[in-house]
Amino acid sequence: MVQMQNLHKYFGENEVLQGIDISVAKSEVVAVIGPSGSGKSTLLRCVNYLEEPTEGEIFIEGNLLNVKGMRRKEFQRHLNRIRTKVGMVFQQFNLFPHMTVLENVIEAPVHVLKKPRKQAEKAAEEILEKVGMLEKRDAYPKTLSGGQKQRVAIARALAMEPDIMLFDEATSALDPELVGEVLKTMEDLAKEGMTMIVVTHEMDFARRVADRVVFIAEGKIVEQGKPEKIFAEPDEERTKQFLGTFI
Ligand code: ADP
Ligand code: MG
Repeated sequence: MVQMQNLHKYFGENEVLQGIDISVAKSEVVAVIGPSGSGKSTLLRCVNYLEEPTEGEIFIEGNLLNVKGMRRKEFQRHLNRIRTKVGMVFQQFNLFPHMTVLENVIEAPVHVLKKPRKQAEKAAEEILEKVGMLEKRDAYPKTLSGGQKQRVAIARALAMEPDIMLFDEATSALDPELVGEVLKTMEDLAKEGMTMIVVTHEMDFARRVADRVVFIAEGKIVEQGKPEKIFAEPDEERTKQFLGTFI
């Protein structure tokens, strides 16, 4: 579903990604862990081209994302086509404040996918039900808790019917008592077979839900493997040191 090959990203002189290779299979849940500043967000942002990779290739469902030499307009169309398949949820919810929950969720399906409004509303209601937010369909974001806002943000991404979901520290901005409801929503999604790349500091979640854990430090994959292996008996000293900070 996603294939990153020899991915490099520079910001000026700063080589933030130093040759990353990750393949994600259909329905696989990959947790990306690592210290702050190690390049996790940049990696996810490259996957839907919010950042342009400096070198290397990214394939989404077999299609090369960062095609070279296309004319700008053609490239934009190419990007838009691929991006509808990749949903992203950030630490900050970025809901439209002047729209209700339902309006937030149907906005992209109506304006980007050109779905008829009634059909988009029906689909949105089903998704809101799934994330436990149907009761709040007519509420405005400012009246919601952080956990509720984040569940709406997930619903909004799901409304585009993505094949792949990217989560960048989706629970890091939440009060501790609200983290669980968002993780539960993500876990439900994983159980339904969604392909997911999840950047997280929630080690219990990674251990329980991820099929594979990738540990990144200073722009390189230090090691990766099944959660049982990475959390119980990592090979690398750097991994032990990092995981030690969570005990
Ligand atoms: P993480 O998500 O693991 O904390 P990031 O991917 O956000 O790490 O950042 C990795 C490095 O890239 C950091 O040194 C950060 O300062 C730098 N960086 C991220 N985005 C930019 C940007 N837009 N311009 C310049 N440097 C950036
Ligand atoms: Mg980050």
